[in-house]
Amino acid sequence: MSKSNTTVILGSGVIGLSIAHYIYELDPNHQVILVDSASELFNCASGQGAGFITRTWFSSRLSPLAQLSFGLHCSLAAAYSGTKNWGFSLARAWNITTTSSATDLHIPPNQQAAPENLKPWLRGLSAAHQISFPNESASIDPHAFCQFLLRHAQSLGASMYNPYRLTSIVLADPATGFRYRGLLTYVQAPSSFELAIERHDDIEIFFDNLVFACGPWVNSAFSHLFPEATSTPNIVPVSGYSITCRLNGASGGDNAKDDGGDASTRPVEEPSALVSSPSTLSSPDSTYSADMLPNSITAHNPDSVGASCTSDILFPSMTDDLPWSPELHVRTNGDIYICGRYTYGFYTSPPGSPISPLVNDSVREQIPPITDPNFCALVDASRKFIGPGADIVKRSVCVRPIRPGGVPYIGKIPPAIAMGFDNIYISAGHGPWGISLAPGSGLALAELIVKGAITCIDDATPFQV
Ligand SMILES: Cc1cc2nc3c(=O)[nH]c(=O)nc-3n(C[C@H](O)[C@H](O)[C@H](O)COP(=O)(O)OP(=O)(O)OC[C@H]3O[C@@H](n4cnc5c(N)ncnc54)[C@H](O)[C@@H]3O)c2cc1C
Repeated sequence: MSKSNTTVILGSGVIGLSIAHYIYELDPNHQVILVDSASELFNCASGQGAGFITRTWFSSRLSPLAQLSFGLHCSLAAAYSGTKNWGFSLARAWNITTTSSATDLHIPPNQQAAPENLKPWLRGLSAAHQISFPNESASIDPHAFCQFLLRHAQSLGASMYNPYRLTSIVLADPATGFRYRGLLTYVQAPSSFELAIERHDDIEIFFDNLVFACGPWVNSAFSHLFPEATSTPNIVPVSGYSITCRLNGASGGDNAKDDGGDASTRPVEEPSALVSSPSTLSSPDSTYSADMLPNSITAHNPDSVGASCTSDILFPSMTDDLPWSPELHVRTNGDIYICGRYTYGFYTSPPGSPISPLVNDSVREQIPPITDPNFCALVDASRKFIGPGADIVKRSVCVRPIRPGGVPYIGKIPPAIAMGFDNIYISAGHGPWGISLAPGSGLALAELIVKGAITCIDDATPFQV
């Protein structure tokens, strides 16, 4: 039996799942169909990113969305035990310097603090300048957050198809009560070609709205569905690398996703000194306003979540011997996630490697070799900062979806672009901040679909297609 309105969402990363969540908040009778081409969900930026969320480090065009999203992150954590279920914790961020360069720096004594939990393992720490505070920043395990959003949407009636792609869309017979009819086609992973052929028939679906929320794959998903379209959304893929280190003896716990300890797993070796110069990234005095939140969604500020501040994010300054900016995210379970290396485009494996390029949107579970120069750089950074006795327990490459100009698409794709089809929407291009901005983006698009207008942010024009 059809419900009042049915929406297909292409992409079950943090953006697609947030849209599903808020559609159900606004209209429990809505039907959501989630479609993802990956055989294993969350092996994308949404599951492999760092999980730092903040409301302050944004340009004026993104700030209202960031404020809204931070409040919604707090609301979700308070309503659904976020601390337990996805490692939500309030966070502090620090610009750090280390011993070798300390004599060259003039850091005011009152900024030379450092959290006690960092001191035992952080090499040569001489000064830590706090650049973000627990009333404006938090940290989550993004993989666990996506798992929660998916399970919750399914419990409210959402269906999930993966690995499938939407391969056709036509107007439905009006007698069906739906606007569109589409076909879902099973995605056969290249790695399983030699296995016994399993036959998967196409699945016919009926729906009223379609959302493109497939991150860096939006351009290709759009062109596959509308091959004659003369223009497409413009999302630039940027591949990001990360490693996770675990201090010897630490158990890791839930928010560590061990990749099984393959041949690349090895101890962090002896360090070399870090030379650094300070930088300031935030404006700590800007205030959180609960007025930014829409009336229909319960607003929570960080104080009411009940989460303690147990996460720290370290931003060592760039130096001559470290001419790039690593980020060290200290998880609630003690693991240290390090990222900060990027290459433009989809990841392509080194010559001779059996690893498939990430450009194939169904293959992301294979992990590139640690000989990749970007992983080597991350390992070198870990040697500089982390004392002896740590293992690399995970490495990952995933792709940021960037809309040129830095402001994501959140809105309707005009029928003139979508080959005359109406009610086609997009939410993509969140770049380095998709996890932080997901709840606000999800609510905004859900409002547009369910109520016909975005009311949760004053001016949605920067996000238009
Ligand atoms: C190393 C790294 C660290 C990061 N750290 C942070 C951070 O600390 N804080 C923060 O806010 N952000 C962070 N980000 C950015 C953030 O991860 C992304 O902006 C966000 O995850 C993008 O979410 P998405 O849902 O748009 O895309 P994705 O996460 O890429 O999800 C897209 C989904 O679409 C699916 N798909 C692809 N093609 C199709 C198709 N044809 N049909 C159906 N489904 C399809 C994919 O399988 C995937 O599941 C980080 C990114 C990187 C790379």
